[in-house]
Amino acid sequence: IPVDRFDLVIFGGTGDLARRKILPGLFRRFMAGQMPEGSRIIGAARSELDDQAYRDMAREALEEFIDKDRRPKECVDAFIEQIHYVAIDATGTGGWSELAQTMSSDTVRAFYFSVAPSLFGALAERLHEHNIADSQSRIVVEKPFGRDLETARTLNRTLAQHFDETQIYRIDHYLGKETVQNLMAVRFGNVLFEPLWNSQYVDHIQITVAETVGVGGRGAYYDKSGAMRDMVQNHLMQLLCLIAMEPPSRFDPDAVRDEKLKVIRALEPVAPHDIVRGQYDAFNGAPSYREDVEDPQSLTESFIAMKLHVSNWRWAGTPFYLRTGKKLRARTSEIAVVFKDAPHSIFGQAEKAHRNILTIRLQPNEGMTLGVTIKEPGPGGMRLIDVPLDMSFADALGPEAGEVPDAYERLIMDVIRGNQTLFMRGDEVEAAWAWTDPIIEGWEARGDAPKPYEPGTSGPEDAQILIHREGRRWREIK
Ligand code: NAD
Repeated sequence: IPVDRFDLVIFGGTGDLARRKILPGLFRRFMAGQMPEGSRIIGAARSELDDQAYRDMAREALEEFIDKDRRPKECVDAFIEQIHYVAIDATGTGGWSELAQTMSSDTVRAFYFSVAPSLFGALAERLHEHNIADSQSRIVVEKPFGRDLETARTLNRTLAQHFDETQIYRIDHYLGKETVQNLMAVRFGNVLFEPLWNSQYVDHIQITVAETVGVGGRGAYYDKSGAMRDMVQNHLMQLLCLIAMEPPSRFDPDAVRDEKLKVIRALEPVAPHDIVRGQYDAFNGAPSYREDVEDPQSLTESFIAMKLHVSNWRWAGTPFYLRTGKKLRARTSEIAVVFKDAPHSIFGQAEKAHRNILTIRLQPNEGMTLGVTIKEPGPGGMRLIDVPLDMSFADALGPEAGEVPDAYERLIMDVIRGNQTLFMRGDEVEAAWAWTDPIIEGWEARGDAPKPYEPGTSGPEDAQILIHREGRRWREIK
């Protein structure tokens, strides 16, 4: 879908996120012909650079993050021509008049706040003071959106002083994944799934986001946050919403977000025995979590597993198991909808039909698979086996399907198009914190210590017990 000509200003344009995700993402869209003539990318950050120095930095970022055969030199040159730079101080006066003069008229104006949230207010204020933003402009804000309900409310209020909710794009890159959108297509574009999508037919749902890395250089930030704030409150919660929500009446931003909000509001408080927190140990000479964050007493979790209930008619009695953590066995993100057993096996006990499991895989190998039971081919009698019904678009559509766009590039283009469907609304974020806060306050008040776990495993043993005690098992992290 074509987009209008745009000026995209990246505040924090020299930062890690801009180099790793935003600039490479924009380049891919440029390659796909989605950067209309006259559109510009304007880096804005504290460093005193000129256009040329910033273009050199952008070129290096593309060389580092885009495969060589996907960036022909002439295309990189043409893309780089569209990049500019303004040195700016978010909290001071420097650079703002230059930025005002740099902006073109009759273009969509988007401002990506790829800076610490403490600067959001100052940026919003100055954009208005200098008449750089108007009622059509859009701002994109990154996570973390607050660290609890109160800070999120303050952030929302600060942004609302200068921007209408329809102009604010709170990014959660999980929502930009192809498979996540495919999940909605599969759920609401077929008659096959919706009738079964409830507690009568679904035994339970698992959402796993496993990382192999530790906290790395982000220790100081991460230690104040932990897996619950850094992953569950936003990413896992968003995935849960898309799985659990009622069909919206239309695929439009507010209809979808209204339904997601209802899911968050229907979440029951979680009892302490339904939560397992973990912290990775030292292993093979690699430092422990506490060594990584340089706090020998840290009680912050680098792993969390929990059982949730969505209390409404659709999901009464169906548990949702969520887990996420660092330094686990493999880097994988998936949602598994585990259906109940067939009510009666006509093949006898030995050949009980296997369970149908719909797996929505976000990484690696984005795609969707439905496990179905069939007869094992051959003359061996009625033997049942499980086969995957593969719904991955890459296979179905063949090479014409092209490359799967990265989440960031898709979301940035949605900003330019003015489509907020895949962005979080202010009330959603607040509702998620309202649910998270008492849980965190509970373990902080009790002084609960996370359980140590060995890196390269699936987390602490207690996380296995959490699900085993109900006769279920986690899917393997692989
Ligand atoms: P970074 O520290 O690498 O970059 C920060 C940028 O902000 C730099 O360009 C710096 O010049 C600019 N900056 C700092 N103070 C400024 C000021 N007063 N005026 C103008 N510019 C100023 O940070 P990052 O990793 O790129 O992250 C940016 C934002 O995105 C943060 O809010 C972070 O939490 C969020 N985020 C980052 C990642 C990631 O993978 N890096 C992922 C998710 C969210």
